Amino acid sequence: MTPSLDLTTPAARDALAVRTAVQQKPSLIGLSRAEMAEALVSSGVVPERQAKMRVQQLWHWLYVRGVSDFTHMFNISKDLRAELDRRFAIARPEIVEEQVSNDGTRKWLFRFPPRGAGRPVEIETVYIPEEGRGTLCISSQVGCTLTCSFCHTGTQKLVRNLTAEEILAELMTARDRLGDFPGRDTPDGAIVPAEGRKITNIVMMGMGEPLYNFEEVKKALLIASDGDGLSLSKRRITLSTSGVVPEIARTGAEIGVMLAISLHAVRDDLRDMLVPINKKYPLKELMAACRAYPGLSNARRITFEYVMLKDVNDSLDDARLLVQLLKGIPAKINLIPFNPWPGTNYQCSDWETIERFADFINEAGYASPIRTPRGRDILAACGQLKSESERMRKVDRLALEAMMIAGHGEA
Ligand code: SAH
Ligand code: SF4
Repeated sequence: MTPSLDLTTPAARDALAVRTAVQQKPSLIGLSRAEMAEALVSSGVVPERQAKMRVQQLWHWLYVRGVSDFTHMFNISKDLRAELDRRFAIARPEIVEEQVSNDGTRKWLFRFPPRGAGRPVEIETVYIPEEGRGTLCISSQVGCTLTCSFCHTGTQKLVRNLTAEEILAELMTARDRLGDFPGRDTPDGAIVPAEGRKITNIVMMGMGEPLYNFEEVKKALLIASDGDGLSLSKRRITLSTSGVVPEIARTGAEIGVMLAISLHAVRDDLRDMLVPINKKYPLKELMAACRAYPGLSNARRITFEYVMLKDVNDSLDDARLLVQLLKGIPAKINLIPFNPWPGTNYQCSDWETIERFADFINEAGYASPIRTPRGRDILAACGQLKSESERMRKVDRLALEAMMIAGHGEA
């Protein structure tokens, strides 16, 4: 019997995608200028003497104009465009779902093709519009290896790291959807005004631990902040880490973005439970790395994130210890009301408790905004990402397994 493939189910499409992965064209997105020149020359598409000029042209089309199809690159000859298209990819990922919350928050589910022998992956990206700014919350991994006990992503296994191309795709596809790239009819060479942009800030606070995917995150953020391209100021990019101490100094020196630390507890015994990476890099080492963060100053403070968990870390003693712990560090404290998820044993602190806590640290001289929960109706809040899609994936996986047992298709 000839095995047949029913392509009407996502599982079957996945199975096919796994088999065709090897045929994928390499992407030009996510390469440094030098890597792009090398790719163009070694493929034989561009002679070495033209490499610099072609990279400049492509960089502009890709990152200033946001073009995702070579045919729109009008100052490149038709033949060269066709040849580039034959050899390289610049397309956006598939948008599986786009949800808009009643408060304007948007959440996308993007699907990326498999890498090597893997399977396609889906990740979530969230856009939060606020008065005078718009923040894109970007994922760095599919799942997470860490197991912070209050975080839903932490209950999901790490599937894989995202590549620089995929991390940038989150930003660029979000900009497409928000109309944040100049129109195709804008005269060539037009500079996108930084003011009036929908996405003004990026936070690496989606799924995953960015410092466990250092090289790809670094490549992506250097391209996102490149002044001749996507042009986001490094002061408007914040990388959040649970405390991967050995990579903290490198983050400042090699990427130069703003740092946020997921602190959540001020005593080692409690932090060991909430943020288990603390067993490896305890508070003393974490604080020393923060004090030594390159570029740290009153104008460039570290943000300390503190999730408010009822009767766990929300007493005034905790607030007192927090102020002591941060002494001498230019810091902002971000109090996050806990976002509950199905199956968690934690509860969010009462509002009065949060306010009392905030007042205490304000009096000690720290700015301590309480992060307003956004997008709750579409499960777009911190620590909730991927929950819905992960459930769907399980259904897909079961369908794929059933199909394989029945002898239809191979992965
Ligand atoms: N892995 C990185 C970045 C992603 S998590 C880190 O841990 O910093 C982004 C922020 O959301 C972190 O401060 C994390 O502790 C917080 N968070 C996770 N789950 C949460 C929840 N259920 N409610 C509120 N904040 C949560
Ligand atoms: Fe991973 Fe951050 Fe969640 Fe911890 S809080 S499990 S590091 S995503």
